[in-house]
This record gives sequence, C-alpha cells and structure tokens, in this order.
Amino acid sequence: MTELSTHSDTVDHVLPFRLDGHNINGRVVQLNDLATQVITRHDYPEAVNRLLGEALVLVAMLGTMLKFDGRFILQLHGKGAVSTLMVDYAPDGDGVGEMRGFAQFDEAAVHQALKDEIPPIALLGDGSHMAFTVDQGADMERYQGIVPLEGETLAEAALEYFQRSEQIATTLKLAAAPLLLAGGKVEWRAGGIVVQQTATTGGIELPPEGDPDYIDEEWNRLKILLETTQDSELLDGEIDPQTLAFRLFHEEGVRVFDTRPLRFACPCSRERVQNMLQGLPDTDQNEMQSQETIEINCDFCNEQYVFSPQEAFVAAP
Ligand SMILES: [Zn+2]
Repeated sequence: MTELSTHSDTVDHVLPFRLDGHNINGRVVQLNDLATQVITRHDYPEAVNRLLGEALVLVAMLGTMLKFDGRFILQLHGKGAVSTLMVDYAPDGDGVGEMRGFAQFDEAAVHQALKDEIPPIALLGDGSHMAFTVDQGADMERYQGIVPLEGETLAEAALEYFQRSEQIATTLKLAAAPLLLAGGKVEWRAGGIVVQQTATTGGIELPPEGDPDYIDEEWNRLKILLETTQDSELLDGEIDPQTLAFRLFHEEGVRVFDTRPLRFACPCSRERVQNMLQGLPDTDQNEMQSQETIEINCDFCNEQYVFSPQEAFVAAP
C-alpha cells in the first residue's frame, strides 16, 4: 500500500498550468473528500475502487478542459469481471464541478481475476472499450468518442484515446489509493497530472530551423519529467498543486492559473425517480402495481428510494 500522509486536507480541485516556452497546457488534479465520498458510498473490492478513483481523476482533468454547460461522461464497458465503470462531471453553474461514479461487476469473478494478478484495467476483459460522451441536454446533439480499452492501466488507455481520436500529444499520470486512519476508518485519495500540447499549434509544433528532432527531444524531456512524479506525491494532501507543478516544471517557465473546485454530488431525487417510474412502459408499471413496495437504488450514490405503488404511479411527482 502506498504510504500516504495521514494529515491531509479535504480539498478537491484541478490546477491548470501552462509551460509558456513550449505551448503546453497542463493540469494537476487532487481529489480527497470527493474520492472518499464516491468510493465509500459503495462496498467494492479495492482493485475496483482504485480503477474508480483513477477514472475520477481522468474525468476531472478532461471535464474541466471543456467549455460547456452539460455533462461529461466516461464509461468503461467490458465482458470481464467488471462490466461497467462510469464517472461523470457537470459544472454546477457557480464554477464548481460536480462528480460521481459507480461500477458494476461480478464479485467472485473479480476475486478470481485478482488471484491471477492481472492489472486492474484487465478486469474489464477482452474486447472492452472506453467511451467519452458530452451531453449538453435534450436539444443538443451528443458527442461520443469510443475507443478500444488498451494498455495495462487506465492512463495508458487514455493515452491511446488521445492518440487515436484527438491526435494531440499528451502524457499523463493517474493514481488512487486508500488511506487508513486510526480506528479502522478508510478514506480515499486520488490524484494525477497531465501535460498536453495546445491544439492551436495543431498538436505537434513544426520544427524550427528545419531540425526534425527538435520537438521530439523537448517533448520527451517533459514526458520524462512527468514520469518522475511518484504516486505518493500525487496523493499527498499536504502538497498543494502549485508546489507540485513548480517542483516538476520550474525550469520550463510554469505559469499557474486559478484552481477549479470540485465536489461530490448526485442530482438524483425522489421526484426524479418517480418521474422515471411513471415513464416506464405500461407492462412494467402493471407488474410493479402488484408489489407491496417499489425500491429503487441510485447506481451512482447508492441512495435508496422506497415507494408504495400508490405513491409511485398515482400521486403527482
Ligand atoms: Zn444518486
């Protein structure tokens, strides 16, 4: 288990930064309370929690890069021990990004797979895929990018996505780990860092003075710098994100911007669930009418909503 500081704050945020000399943008993500809130609402095996924690970091990185008012969704789907992992992000209108997530899996199959010491991403099995969706509401077209889930880690799979779909030179690190507190209490920490060539340069910059090796050398040097970051640094709530960015890139002319706050939130409600039930086909509604109670659990936050058939289908939502 990663050694983590036990005295950490509960701040959740993304710090955007820029390496002026290189036309490169970057982000540091630190999730403390948010990761704990999302993960401890469920009772998943640790390997699934790590994957969920890393997925939260990836979505925080990408969601805060988009300029839109809708929901940004990451879905992993497979036919392995884990069948679905989903995380989403939506700005709340006051500059705070709201996030949530869940996984669906076969517990026995997860434990069997882990005995074989496969990497967590392989829990999704062969032929799995990753989908990014931007949902801007019913009147707007949904944008979706789907790529095969490749690589040994979620970070590698995400890099594949950037190469195939975005063609923007990108490198990133993701980390998530449990933090054991006195009294057996468990919190989670998740963090990451990404650097990306800016799209305005068309992804890859043209070599100056006709030197074809120029950019590759610079880019490789930055990649190596980023790879020197330890998971423990990414997960340490005592290191503020500015310090982390300066520590890595102080020789590159790093400029930091305002941090973007994040928090756990799930927009589910009794009214929304009732609306959903009343929108079901008649056959489903008739079947539920014969039940004593109707229990609906929110996949994302695990909140349970209990209705009598009378409440569910007759009363106005
Ligand atoms: Zn919910």
